[in-house]
Amino acid sequence: MRALARAITGLELPAVEKISEEQAKDPLQILIATILSARTQDATTHAASTRLFKAARTPRTLAKLPLTQIERLIYPVSFYRYKARYVKSCCEMLVSRFGGKVPSTMEELLMLPGVGRKTANLVLILGFKSPRNICVDTHVHRISNRLGWVKTTLPDETEQALYHATARRWWPYLNLYLVTWGQNVCRPVYPRCGDCVIRDECPRIGVLRTRRRGVD
Ligand code: SF4
Repeated sequence: MRALARAITGLELPAVEKISEEQAKDPLQILIATILSARTQDATTHAASTRLFKAARTPRTLAKLPLTQIERLIYPVSFYRYKARYVKSCCEMLVSRFGGKVPSTMEELLMLPGVGRKTANLVLILGFKSPRNICVDTHVHRISNRLGWVKTTLPDETEQALYHATARRWWPYLNLYLVTWGQNVCRPVYPRCGDCVIRDECPRIGVLRTRRRGVD
């Protein structure tokens, strides 16, 4: 983890981390950006979140936006029609049930439409500075298995296994480090193992082919 912390310095941050830094760790913007980010490129997520929050900045004002306007603002994120519905109904529930504020517990976050453990964990880590959560997305799931830290088939299993397999002090950073590494080096296909700073520690479980050293 220390090697990764050094290696990611200067690399592009994942979209939600960038939004969190730009927006003073506002839990609402982290929540909505994470909903938009599923299966969507980072640059698209970032641009869509920026457009949406320019139009409305609070759960109350977001909930009042017509669905078609939300769709237009977040397009072209993938599944933008579904995600627009989630954004609207999520903000309606924030207003009706949580007094217009993003709740700060896993149980309450999971009640919100469109929110699963990945989103809830990221909101708790980035928006509420929780030291007790690990956020597992596809990159964290893949790399943890390649490294042999866990042996799992689903991201939710990976999250639970990582609580046992990793030191507590790294939990809030696992997502940032492994997502950044997954986007740049330990990619889904043809990982750049020859350029990887942790190649000597990595058994490369399940890796069949790698990209040649120095080739982007
Ligand atoms: S050595 Fe290869 S498989 Fe292992 S972490 Fe690095 S890029 Fe990923």
